[in-house]
Amino acid sequence: MSQNLKILVVGQGLAGSVLAHQFIQKGFHVKIIDKGHQGISSSLAAGVVNPVTGRRIVKSWMIDELLPVAKSYYQAIEKELGLKLWYELPALRLFTDTGMSNNWSIRMTNEGYGHYLDFAQAKTIARFPIKNEFGVGLIKHSAKANISLMIESFRKKWLQEGRLSEATFQHDRLEGATYQGEDYDRIIFCEGWEAMHNPLFQSLPFQVTKGEVLILHLPEMPEENIIKKKVAFIPLGDHLFWAGATNFWDFEDAEPSKEGETWLKTEIEAILDQTYEVVRHLAAIRPTVRHRRPMIGFPKNLEANQKEPRIGIFNGFGTKGTSLVPYWAQQFTNAVAHSSGLPADVDVNLKIKSQR
Ligand SMILES: Cc1cc2nc3c(=O)[nH]c(=O)nc-3n(C[C@H](O)[C@H](O)[C@H](O)COP(=O)(O)OP(=O)(O)OC[C@H]3O[C@@H](n4cnc5c(N)ncnc54)[C@H](O)[C@@H]3O)c2cc1C
Repeated sequence: MSQNLKILVVGQGLAGSVLAHQFIQKGFHVKIIDKGHQGISSSLAAGVVNPVTGRRIVKSWMIDELLPVAKSYYQAIEKELGLKLWYELPALRLFTDTGMSNNWSIRMTNEGYGHYLDFAQAKTIARFPIKNEFGVGLIKHSAKANISLMIESFRKKWLQEGRLSEATFQHDRLEGATYQGEDYDRIIFCEGWEAMHNPLFQSLPFQVTKGEVLILHLPEMPEENIIKKKVAFIPLGDHLFWAGATNFWDFEDAEPSKEGETWLKTEIEAILDQTYEVVRHLAAIRPTVRHRRPMIGFPKNLEANQKEPRIGIFNGFGTKGTSLVPYWAQQFTNAVAHSSGLPADVDVNLKIKSQR
């Protein structure tokens, strides 16, 4: 194992934080550079891990493998940083019509779904100030990780240790794997959606989306469950709820919009059977990708990677970073340590080829 590698991680959102942390745990020499958390995806995300999604009621990609790794990773960080991060929050899925309720019954009997799906009990539903026309399913093992708290805590720790620089990485000052006079064995970019502006990654199929969210004050809403229809309500504590999100492909900036607010309020009112107070309206851009799979590895089309892998990427976690990042950081750090490859589904080199 190549333990003496000197690694620079660029970006300290969820992806950069977990990757840097796992490299540090392996004993590598790790430095991090990040320009700040203002308005980033990882700070706005609800941090939900939802094992079964959509109107078609389908298990999330690889969820049986991802969920146990995510849970044990966030629980280990809770101990390491002395924080509460992981919350088990079974989701109440409001059906949109009788067809969905019927499909739910069928799905529950499909192999691998019984572990996750059930119907919510009438006495549970009755406690919630929600409209319930077509019935309510229960998604077991859904959870929330407080990833914004986690990345802020890593930031403080790494600033104190002198490991993290608060600065913008200047792409035009990179020569091979040398940055600002320092030679690195590996430089790994975890810039979220802003990787689109990195000249090294112009051939990657980013297709970023803007998400907008309202933070609501709902004094009568119980706080032990996620509520999900077109929007989700996620309890934040103190009777505050995260309600979102929009998924806009066409947008001009990363600011909250009137269009977003109108859409969110319409969907919130389709669920809530009570008045509500909007406390904040927020927006951020997700690092979504055309094929909806992460993009990980060392692109062979980069000059710096001709002799050995030096410049890497760990990105494309889209709408599901909370569950994907711990597992894929484990796979990637092992691949770097043992100079081994990555599965085709996530290998960045296959994403470049598929563009041609
Ligand atoms: C509204 C919304 C709701 C979401 N809800 C969920 C959810 O419930 N569950 C879930 O799993 N996922 C959710 N997501 C998705 C989740 O936020 C992402 O998958 C994940 O946070 C992406 O993390 P990242 O580190 O790749 O990117 P980012 O969070 O964007 O972090 C990138 C970091 O890199 C830094 N950076 C960029 N360029 C440079 C540079 N040149 N120099 C220095 N630093 C740089 C940025 O400042 C930032 O700190 C949601 C996203 C949104 C927008």
